[in-house]
Amino acid sequence: MPVNNNCFSSVLLQKAPVRHLVRSFTNGRIAQTYLFAGKESTGRRTTALAFAALLQCQNPTTGGDGSVDSCQNCDSCRRIAAGTHPDVNLITPDGNEIRIDQVREMQAMASLKPGVGRWQIFILDPAERLNVSSANSLLKIFEEAPPHAVFILIARDTGSVLPTVLSRSEIVRFAVPSHQQARAEIMRACALSEAQAALCYSLSEGRFGRSLEFALNFHELSFNSGISQSHTDFLIQTESLSQLLQAEFAAVENLDRALRVAGQIDQKVYFPLQAARKSFCRSLVLNTGLPAAFALLFSENLTERLNSAISVMKKSFDPLLLEAKKSYPSALIKEIEGQFSAAIERWAGSQLEEFFLCLLNWYADALIVACKADETLLLNLDRKEDIITLAKVEGIELLRSRIELLEKSVELQRRYVQPLLILENLLTQIGGPEA
Ligand SMILES: [Zn+2]
Repeated sequence: MPVNNNCFSSVLLQKAPVRHLVRSFTNGRIAQTYLFAGKESTGRRTTALAFAALLQCQNPTTGGDGSVDSCQNCDSCRRIAAGTHPDVNLITPDGNEIRIDQVREMQAMASLKPGVGRWQIFILDPAERLNVSSANSLLKIFEEAPPHAVFILIARDTGSVLPTVLSRSEIVRFAVPSHQQARAEIMRACALSEAQAALCYSLSEGRFGRSLEFALNFHELSFNSGISQSHTDFLIQTESLSQLLQAEFAAVENLDRALRVAGQIDQKVYFPLQAARKSFCRSLVLNTGLPAAFALLFSENLTERLNSAISVMKKSFDPLLLEAKKSYPSALIKEIEGQFSAAIERWAGSQLEEFFLCLLNWYADALIVACKADETLLLNLDRKEDIITLAKVEGIELLRSRIELLEKSVELQRRYVQPLLILENLLTQIGGPEA
């Protein structure tokens, strides 16, 4: 079972990046700046921490295959595992962005000698959330940084960072594993059956790292509820997630901590919602005769819930902002307020995108079956019978147009078109005429 160790042996399905970094270490050629480029959930942060652990380890070991790794036992490895190593700094968004204050703090720390380790390591995750002024400051920091400073930028692709930063970075690429590789690895690493691994993987919508989180806390599921029940369950679980987040915000005591929590809300993985969403989307795609009123009813219900979650979450910061107004300039308070709002709206947007993605994956699977392609390419392999039914009912042309419609819906949501309009248009088209 994978444990949360910061060593290369815990990095799964990423042999090439690990080999690259081990070679850097054994040749004593540590770059000042690395760019870890790859999609989310491919193990970029785990690898960054494993590399940091190796660089700082007091007693690196050599595994059975002859490759070097951190020991996991020395004081340095223990501190990294506890997140308390003074020379390994993980920088994540404070609110919606990695803010200029955070970058300035990093600049000051980079100029100091390491406290206990050999290197001062800064992991920026995700680098695409650096705001314009933060990103512009980076180059200056790289120019001035002493040789013991190592920066690891984590980004989706090389286009997400400024070209001037890119040209100074050593690029380490993280590939997305195939569905089949991912499922086999979940079975092996988490000691699950083939069916259980397939379920965890499909619930993650093909995100390998996230599926491991589900696998470690595996739940059996039933997909037999009809459209009405699965619709209700989905709305209830959406509400439950927003209540969990609200409780988290309510427990925060100061503004710094509130910014940190707001920066992480769209990362929250909530198994019951993933399962309810999968089940509801299954009912939607398989049900061709939805009542005409359903599209509007569902769209209103979902957007109302998200809007009320947005407003409650925003309000929970008011007491902290009010308190801070006594000691900070109003421009700073305004900026921080903007960070909270943007982070919460990003979360609501991500809920819609997850819904679109889940529907899209059902249709994409049906298209694979309709085109008679290899079934190991299916994401929802655990629901093969449903996919075969869907492929028969819809046919290649219709499936293609459904997929286009969903891609378009994601695009519209990113362009801030009203969610109610996007949802209603989508549901009206996929729900089909009244039976
Ligand atoms: Zn060690």
